[in-house]
Amino acid sequence: MKKKVDHGSTENSCEYGHVHEETWWEFDARGIPLCKVCDNCQDERLGGYRPDVLEDPSYWSDEPIEAENY
Ligand SMILES: [Zn+2]
Repeated sequence: MKKKVDHGSTENSCEYGHVHEETWWEFDARGIPLCKVCDNCQDERLGGYRPDVLEDPSYWSDEPIEAENY
């Protein structure tokens, strides 16, 4: 297996494993980090959250804001 030569290694990949993309953390309206995304999956990732979680800092509920995939 050929070893990849990149500077960020896996730390630089988003949660979908898109490497060699610029990645960043998306935060909800309260400043809580939600997920690491890149251009390829930003829409898909954020689409999985309730809009108020992203836009309304006063949101709060008993529901999990994220599906549990464990
Ligand atoms: Zn991605």
